[in-house]
Amino acid sequence: MNNSLAQPIAIFGGTFDPIHHGHLYVALELQQAYNLAEVRLVPCWQPVHRAPAIATAKQRLDMLAWAVKNEPKLKIDDCEIQRQTPSYMVDTISLFRKKLSNTPLCLILGIDAWIGFAEWHSYEIILQLCHIIIVQRPFYFLPSTGKVAKLFQQYSNQDVSAMHHSLGGYIFFHPTTSPNISATAIRDQFAKNQDPRHLLPESVYHYIIKHGIYH
Ligand code: ATP
Repeated sequence: MNNSLAQPIAIFGGTFDPIHHGHLYVALELQQAYNLAEVRLVPCWQPVHRAPAIATAKQRLDMLAWAVKNEPKLKIDDCEIQRQTPSYMVDTISLFRKKLSNTPLCLILGIDAWIGFAEWHSYEIILQLCHIIIVQRPFYFLPSTGKVAKLFQQYSNQDVSAMHHSLGGYIFFHPTTSPNISATAIRDQFAKNQDPRHLLPESVYHYIIKHGIYH
């Protein structure tokens, strides 16, 4: 425990293809709940565990910029896109840790991402370098058996002050009612000529229409 650390920063990685109200709900809710200095949205260059994005990196960055335009605590960080190599989270967290040696870091993961965490490259190192905040996502449940369940039992903590007084190493679970929205459903609706405008910020919706991204 260390009382002279900076206010924690969260890292929220994703494909953001496109960013939607589910992402924004999570980022804003956690920023306040854990008194985070800011939440950095980190779009990946090339996802390691899934199919590539449909929108280009530039389009995903543009959409993020529209989405956080009026949100001073939400920042975009293009370090993975600048790297232009497969986006391993351990590389990203290591970079943050080097630059912010006195700042507790928190990696935000929806439960769906947490379920696969033990397959991530060097996941033990990630957990040494930062905290993890697992956030509830509709229709997903915390695993009760297997590697991630063991990690959760070993490192879980409910005390927010532990996050503020240590650089990393704890796992927090944030039960919330984030909206049942996914980028996949949004892309599908555009492709079928349906109208998903209620699922994402209006400016992002108009950007997608203007550039014909998912049609
Ligand atoms: P896709 O449908 O293309 O897989 P997605 O909607 O899951 O996309 P991503 O950019 O892949 O969005 O997700 C980034 C992170 O945001 C992940 O940790 C994911 O679990 C989390 N997330 C996305 N949508 C929600 C939501 N509605 N509630 C909680 N977490 C979410």
